[in-house]
Amino acid sequence: MGEFFSPAILAIIHYFKQKKCNFCNENFDSESIKLLKQEAKVVVVQITCTCCKHSYGTAVVAMNPSPTPEKPEIPQGWTKKDIKRLANFKAINEDDVLTAYKFIKELGNDWVKYLPSPNKRKAI
Ligand SMILES: [Zn+2]
Repeated sequence: MGEFFSPAILAIIHYFKQKKCNFCNENFDSESIKLLKQEAKVVVVQITCTCCKHSYGTAVVAMNPSPTPEKPEIPQGWTKKDIKRLANFKAINEDDVLTAYKFIKELGNDWVKYLPSPNKRKAI
């Protein structure tokens, strides 16, 4: 063999290896997939069952550009200490805001009384 398989081809082979031939019920293998054409965004492969030789014709697979690795977003102004302290918390979403809103609303109009008095609060 000695063929070079790009990550795109390997992904296609991996996908088809999990599928079975409709005719002999054998799983496809890497021999079942023949690369016909590969371009930046499209890969054309020919699918033939290695076991019963049934030809499935060609498959055109559109490739998405590889996603950029996800970088955790650090809000501006955070110190290293903030990051260490807060980075593992999930970002809040609309539901969290509504839950907090409902919670505060249920405390009543004088919810401020639940807060420690300003002179007891620790300096941040
Ligand atoms: Zn087959």
